[in-house]
Formats: sequence, C-alpha cells, structure tokens
Amino acid sequence: MSAVLESTALLADRINNLEESATLAMSKKSREIAAQGHKVINLSVGEPDFKTPKHICEAAKAAIDGGFHNYTPVSGIAELRKAIADKFKRDNNIDWKPENIIVSTGAKHSLANAIQVLINPGDEVIILAPYWVSYSEMVKLADGKAVVLNGAFENDFKVTPEQIEAAITPKTKMIMYASPNNPTGSVYSEAELRKIAAIVEKHENIFVLADEIYEYINFLEEGHFSIGSIPAIKDRVITVNGMAKGFAMTGWRIGFIGAAKWIVDGIDKLQGQVTSGTNHIAQKASVVAWDDMSAPAIMKEAYLRRRGLVVDGLKAIPGFKVNIPDGAFYAFPDVSTYFGKTDGETEIKDADDLSMWLLEKAYVATVSGSGFGAPNCIRISTAASDENLLEAIERIKTAVATLK
Ligand code: PMP
Ligand code: GLU
Repeated sequence: MSAVLESTALLADRINNLEESATLAMSKKSREIAAQGHKVINLSVGEPDFKTPKHICEAAKAAIDGGFHNYTPVSGIAELRKAIADKFKRDNNIDWKPENIIVSTGAKHSLANAIQVLINPGDEVIILAPYWVSYSEMVKLADGKAVVLNGAFENDFKVTPEQIEAAITPKTKMIMYASPNNPTGSVYSEAELRKIAAIVEKHENIFVLADEIYEYINFLEEGHFSIGSIPAIKDRVITVNGMAKGFAMTGWRIGFIGAAKWIVDGIDKLQGQVTSGTNHIAQKASVVAWDDMSAPAIMKEAYLRRRGLVVDGLKAIPGFKVNIPDGAFYAFPDVSTYFGKTDGETEIKDADDLSMWLLEKAYVATVSGSGFGAPNCIRISTAASDENLLEAIERIKTAVATLK
C-alpha cells in the first residue's frame, strides 16, 4: 500500500478529533494480554456475564424458522414498538403511543441519533459527570459543545440542581445523564429529578436525554423514576433504554427511544439514510422480553451480592476511597492516593497509568476514570463471577502495596 493511502492525516477531521472509546480500548488491550498467555481477569467492559433469558432465545429461533429474514420498517416492527409503548406505561408511567417509539441498533445508537437530530453546531449539551465515555464524543460528532458538570464524591457523585441551573446559557439545548449511572452506579432520586425538571420547565428550548439502560439494576427501595413521566416537560424528554443490560442482550443490539413524534420522525429520517431498521430477528425476540421479568430480577440480586463483595474488598485496600453504588454493575473507587508513587520502575502519574499498570502487572483489566470525566477514579465492572471478583481484588491489593 502506498504511503499516501496509509496516512491517517487523510481521515476526516471529525475522526481524527474523536477519542477512541476507553471502555472498548481497555477491553481490546485486555484480550491482547490474555492472548500472550496471561490469566487476565477482565473487569473493563461493562457487560452482563449472564445468558439471555430462554423465552427471548426461543422467540429468536421461531423468528428464524418463521422466515422473518427481510428488512423491517425503519423505526422497527409494529409489534415491538407496541411492546415498548406498553413497557413505558407499565414500568415508567410514561404514556407514549407506538408512533412515539423508535428502535435502533443498541442504546448507543439511540443516544447518538437523538444528539444528531437535535444538536446544531455550537449548541451546548450539559453532561452530568461522571458520565459514560461516549457521551462527550457523540456531542463532538454533532459539532455541539459538551458542558461537563462534576458530581462530587461526597454527594454520591451526583450533580446538584443548583449546579445545573448555574450552567444554563442561551445556547443550552440539552441536559443528558444516565441513572442508574455508568460509571458510578449512582441513582438520581425522584426528588432530585423533579427539581431538575422544574429548571427545565422554565427553559422551553432545553431537552433532556435520559439514559435509563440500567433501569432494572437498581438496588434502592424507592426504585426507578423516569423524568419523562413528569407531564410539564414530557414532550422535551427523550427516554433511551435498551435490551443490553437488564436482559443480558449486549450482542443483540436493540436500543430504543420514547419521545415526541417529531423527534422520532427526525430519527426515522436519519436512520433511513444511514442504517435502516435494525436486525429483524433480534426485534422479534425482544417483543416477548417483558412478558417474563424473572431473569432481570435474578440478575439484579446477583449484582447486589457482588456489589457487597467488591465494595468490602476495595474498602480494605489502603487509600482507596469507595462510594456505595445504588445500581448498575460498577464500582468506581477514587485511587488518587497512589498518584506520584512508583514500583521502582514505573511511576503512576494518574488513573490512566494505574489502570494500565494493573493490567500489565496484576493482569486485572479496569478502565481509567479519565474517559468518564473523573480522573481520580478507576472503574471496576462487577459483572463477573464472585471467584474472579475476589481474585481480582486480591491481585489489586497485592500490586498497589508495592507502590511507594
Ligand atoms: N448507555 C450506557 C450508560 C451504557 O453503559 C451503555 C453500555 N454500553 C449504553 C448506553 C449502550 O448500550 P447498548 O449496548 O444497548 O448500545
Ligand atoms: N456500557 C459498557 C461499558 O461502559 C459497554 C462498552 C461500550 O459500549 O462502551 O463498558
């Protein structure tokens, strides 16, 4: 191949300016080290270690055998849009019709679509941090400006309504957040979300992008609350969810949005030019998912038990500051006490260094908090077996004890 053809400088600026996904990059690196023969415990990528529930798999098999092999409508098959509308009513108290629903290729795609159809160059998007790695890059891809607000460790890593109010400018177009949160596991309460909604209500050009992908992994008694259920701002809330986390269906790639029809129609237009309707078999399988909620409940109990193991284990590591996650399947310790220390060979300057060093020295893959807007932390996925989690914590503890 000629030198010119290999030059990354020829890539479009939007790609050269884009960060690689930190979660996927660490997962790739972890596979590379494992391929060298090391027993790596991969706690980087956040992915349920369970299998998809049987009734969903059976529906997929029936769809294959039944000949559902063709393109679907761009927004998704009618029966799935209806099942999702029913789910929004049942679980979220949001009254959307099937015409308010659009199905996409994973919640990641749903989020990117919502940003593409609403954000103009220069529009500001308030992102509640710590935030999931792809948010800021999705905003960048739309030529928007990410305005990152940090939730303090002392406030359960949550951003306050006062911080949000103070950050609003005439250019603010959107507020986006995930609850339960990735990477912190924090859950915004109904009271907090009502306060945020009251601020949004005052600014009629501001939209809320609510990422509820971890809805079913919520350990709080009060349960999940959807900001989209608040009538005063309902038409300006885009609720994103998907099958990946609650139903252990990461590879099936089904995400969806509930939103005002004109937003859904905008996304339909975009998808119609870029991806078309997503996988027919996976859509048919997803239709039956909500008929049996026993698997999400069992998985939640397992994540809760593991949270206990991991939080206790991490707290026993000198210097680690550990918050208790109320949902999702991550722990997000502040490890900054180790910055500036060395094992005699490698100096740990920041969380990127520590995360890489843990992979190379202890064969435990984590993700640095820097990509999540929290450079003092590392993220540890608890979606792994108890045995692997305990072993990983032991390895981390032994490794960091050598840092002086
Ligand atoms: N939002 C958050 C907060 C996530 O953690 C993930 C997981 N990757 C997604 C969205 C995307 O999910 P999906 O696999 O459905 O694209
Ligand atoms: N949500 C997961 C994570 O944060 C999946 C990886 C990804 O899609 O970035 O690790």
